[in-house]
Amino acid sequence: MVFVVEAFTVTGIVQGVGFRPFVYRLATQLGLDGEVGNDAVSVFVTVAGPPDRLDEFERRLCDDAPPLASIESISRRPLDDGRIQAGHGFRIVPSRSADGERTLVPPDTAVCDDCLAELFDPDDRRYRHPFVTCTNCGPRFTIVRSLPYDRPATTMAAFEMCAACAEEYADPGDRRYHAQPIACHDCGPTLSCTVPGEPIAATASALDRGDVAAVKGLGGFHLMCDATSDAAVRRLRDRKDRPDKPFAIMVADLDAARQVAEVSDAEADLLASPARPIVLLRTRDDSGLTRLVAPGNPLVGVMLPYTPIHHLLFAEGLGPLVCTSGNRGGEPIVHRDEDVDEVLAPLADVALTHDRPIEVPCDDSVVRVVGDRLLPVRRARGYAPVPVALDGARRAVLAVGGEMKSTCCVASHQHAWVSQHIGEQGTLATLDAFEAVAAQFTRLYDVEPDVIAVDAHPAYATSRWGRRRAGGRVIEVQHHHAHVAAVMAEHGVAPGTAVLGIAFDGTGYGTDGAIWGGEVLLATASGFERAAHLAPVQLPGGDAAIANPYRVALAHLHAAGIDRREDLAPVAELRSDGDAARVLARQLETGFSCVPTTSMGRLFDAVASLIGLRHRISYEAQAAIELEIAAATAGPTDRRYRFTLAGGADGPVVADPAPVIRAIVDDLSCGIDTATVAAAFHVAVVELVAELVAHLRDRADAVALTGGVFQNALLTRWCLDRLGEDGVHALTHHRVPPNDGGLALGQAYIAAHTPDPSMEV
Ligand code: ZN
Ligand code: ZN
Ligand code: FE
Repeated sequence: MVFVVEAFTVTGIVQGVGFRPFVYRLATQLGLDGEVGNDAVSVFVTVAGPPDRLDEFERRLCDDAPPLASIESISRRPLDDGRIQAGHGFRIVPSRSADGERTLVPPDTAVCDDCLAELFDPDDRRYRHPFVTCTNCGPRFTIVRSLPYDRPATTMAAFEMCAACAEEYADPGDRRYHAQPIACHDCGPTLSCTVPGEPIAATASALDRGDVAAVKGLGGFHLMCDATSDAAVRRLRDRKDRPDKPFAIMVADLDAARQVAEVSDAEADLLASPARPIVLLRTRDDSGLTRLVAPGNPLVGVMLPYTPIHHLLFAEGLGPLVCTSGNRGGEPIVHRDEDVDEVLAPLADVALTHDRPIEVPCDDSVVRVVGDRLLPVRRARGYAPVPVALDGARRAVLAVGGEMKSTCCVASHQHAWVSQHIGEQGTLATLDAFEAVAAQFTRLYDVEPDVIAVDAHPAYATSRWGRRRAGGRVIEVQHHHAHVAAVMAEHGVAPGTAVLGIAFDGTGYGTDGAIWGGEVLLATASGFERAAHLAPVQLPGGDAAIANPYRVALAHLHAAGIDRREDLAPVAELRSDGDAARVLARQLETGFSCVPTTSMGRLFDAVASLIGLRHRISYEAQAAIELEIAAATAGPTDRRYRFTLAGGADGPVVADPAPVIRAIVDDLSCGIDTATVAAAFHVAVVELVAELVAHLRDRADAVALTGGVFQNALLTRWCLDRLGEDGVHALTHHRVPPNDGGLALGQAYIAAHTPDPSMEV
């Protein structure tokens, strides 16, 4: 028989996920000899055997990889190595460290079925152990202090393994071989509760009574309460001072999810996936949830239990629980026990905690399903810090993202690591949290940034932070260019490719100092041309307009020449403002302290107010979300409102919304119902996108939809369908959100690929 010796190198998320024991079992099964080990960036395998068996080995290396592994590449080459010989057996060898790029940290994942079975098996030694975990599941990213990922580098360092655990840890045939967080009743962390009794039972009965509980999860504390009780949810809303913004819920299992919401197959797969995100679902009429969970909103964010502690709680027979980040409004999630007393004690009646520290705070992720596509809304636990591959980057970058839905991104020569969602900037606490994450990512991945990429907005806290920080050259990136580049990065679009980016969002600083947000860019990684945009309207008093959609509506009515009609809802709303009314009317007349904006997000706000849906908001994008919901109830419509297009000869095409506004006002006076008007407005935006793409597509190699407006699942789906009719396959986000949570990735992509960054400063 012919024997050959070959070396395999496997890169990707292949450490801390049971990859070496998997290779060991596979090689032994195939009767191959050799060795497997970790180095700093990959798993290396040397095998000896017949060529056809090596082929099978390579195939199954990919096909049968452990569930948490994510292979980026497998390379294979012949080896002339006298050490590896047939008949010597297969072994796992110690890790070897090398310079260069660091290995990849896996994300946190939900407790696996094997561990779950042990959790509820009275004969198992880990029966009801709240920290049961193995190589296939459990905490990872949130317990890592440094790399390489080994137990002493995690928050489990203080827990010395007992003999039984140590034996499992050292046995390549065991499911817990080198599972860093393993523990048991004899050696692991312990639960505690602020009320007397067994912690799980005490917390469950408090929840049952309608109390609010703070519960320590993987990336921070949740606040939980009975989602079917008006009184319980109202108490939580009052304490958090959060009148309307929807809460997410946690339910026992998929069946329980189907009792509260409509769940498609794709949505069920996502709910039960190892990342266990919050999935936005359509609430059932007979859900039994109090309407205070998501007032006026037919969607509900649902997640399934993902830690053993959650499973133990639900095993006490609890129904759906509100499950929201433990924090004060606008502040980062509380993750340290030291902060529980100060921050959470006033919010919660009882706290269930434990002594395994959380190193890295990480909120729950939020996703939607659009057709068969995944649409990330908030990227955090379960997805962070999986990197995006970056080919041929010219330099190392720290990108600081934007102001809302803040994230940062560290890019080396081959990878871009986008941080978990940090929160809204504007408080010292979130800037501190941002700084901590930026420091942690540069340290963890050992990246010394050559440049810092910031949003071009002069007043963003993160931009100012980036400019202040010494030792790095600053690259300013235009907001919507970053949105488009984020799609390019996710889809591995080469930096020189011309992409037609439809970037619709609320607010982004334009190169002319105006507020942009209804932009169509012809972009590459190194530059862009503004190919089209909405016609600007004069927005009175910037931020006040954002909180008061009726003011945006007045601006659009003024631009359309019909702001004096007393029968219009925004005009009536203004009258109720008394003194402000006169000031505002004057502002609109004179343009004094008005800001020109081309924002598509604001146009959605304006229409929501115009049709009488929402004049003032209590959380971001509330009016636009309600407009989407109204449109979804009506469904597709034949009514046609049209933007008029002008310009384009040797400047951008300008799309004027005034005719759309006038048509809406006409329809309202004819008594057309608001849901139909909302749907017709969506159709008008879809037709605008189709028209602009048809006009500009021959100048681009790809089309991308991006910006916070595309968090609107209805708009995104209708756009994709409509473009599909024209034979255009548009790229959408699937790794990072279309909203400003994706900016950091786009900034990093641009800064990493721009030939001469001095051009961009
Ligand atoms: Zn497990
Ligand atoms: Zn133990
Ligand atoms: Fe944006």
